[in-house]
Amino acid sequence: MKFNTLAVHAGVHPDPSTGAIMTPIYQTSTYVQDAPGVHKGFEYARTQNPTRKALQDSIAALEDGKHGLCFSSGMAAMDAIIKLLKQGDEVVASSDLYGGSFRLLRRIYAKFGIKSHFVDMSDLSNVEAVMNDRTKLLWVETPTNPMLQLVDIEAITNLGKSKGVITCVDNTFATPYLQQPLNLGADLVHHSATKYIGGHSDVVIGAVVVNDEKLAEELAFIQNSAGAVPGPQDCFLTLRGIKTLHIRMQRACENAAAIANFLVNHPRTNRVIYPGLDSHPHHELAKSQMSGFGAMVSFDLTDDSLEVAHKLLSSTNLFALAESLGGVESLIGHPASMTHAAIPREERLKVGLTESLIRLSIGIEDVDDLIADLEKALA
Ligand code: PLP
Repeated sequence: MKFNTLAVHAGVHPDPSTGAIMTPIYQTSTYVQDAPGVHKGFEYARTQNPTRKALQDSIAALEDGKHGLCFSSGMAAMDAIIKLLKQGDEVVASSDLYGGSFRLLRRIYAKFGIKSHFVDMSDLSNVEAVMNDRTKLLWVETPTNPMLQLVDIEAITNLGKSKGVITCVDNTFATPYLQQPLNLGADLVHHSATKYIGGHSDVVIGAVVVNDEKLAEELAFIQNSAGAVPGPQDCFLTLRGIKTLHIRMQRACENAAAIANFLVNHPRTNRVIYPGLDSHPHHELAKSQMSGFGAMVSFDLTDDSLEVAHKLLSSTNLFALAESLGGVESLIGHPASMTHAAIPREERLKVGLTESLIRLSIGIEDVDDLIADLEKALA
């Protein structure tokens, strides 16, 4: 089946007891057994839940993978993946990555003896330079957050495989609608499904998709043992969001392209970063690796000061000033003081994350209204 059909149908079957077309919210903590050990495949809701199962199967199908596992947040999903490692192991991650992912590696797992290296993964020689016998995981964000740089998934997974290292791609920004990392060789796909997958800014949830049976088993063991599972209502909301993922992404990408072009031509903007622009350093890779350029646009101002950035951020009406991204409504954010405040200033500046860098998450409103809102704020 094609993606658009999978988005509507994958994982979802009419409820066997009533025929309800929508998977019910199975709000239960346990399941009655006919005799000890004789049950319908569900024993205790931390381990299995039918609403969660439908969602896990749906996300797995969208990523063209075998096994999906959902967690109580994107960070909980990443946490489960890092728990595949042990003391003394090392991680190589993108230097430009979501601040919370950086924080989990640097502030939590470093304490438990798992060391992380942060490098510009768009140049593989940087990755190779820090890899050693202890390297066990390559953590790849592409496009990165917030600099929207791309990493060649096929090339980096080949590098990982040649050294027996697992590669995980955080596919939050692209979504499987635009990019399917498992088909490019990745071992694991990670999502903050809070974002485009859910798509309506009403749920915090995470997901991992994997083909390898052993890794799937280990992750299910961690999911059940550590217990960071999403509740059934959150699974239901995410499932409902998925049914329009393809339509939302299509419209949001069209809007983002128009807004990127508007910003390029505006005298107050300095750099406009959008993988769909010819000027983007990874535009050619974006064309071959993704089937569209995404709906995130970053830019900074000719006047690179915190004051001017803050003035702009408080001058939009339609673009809401908020953390997060990937919902139907457009958001405006300031990475240096919001999503990426956990990253020290020097490290931020090294990757080009300037004081005035603004990140837009483009929604599915009418693009004329969005451009008018930005035009007014920039003026
Ligand atoms: N990965 C990326 C790329 C993100 O943008 C985020 C959140 O913004 C996360 C992971 C963390 O996900 P969550 O907020 O669902 O825990």
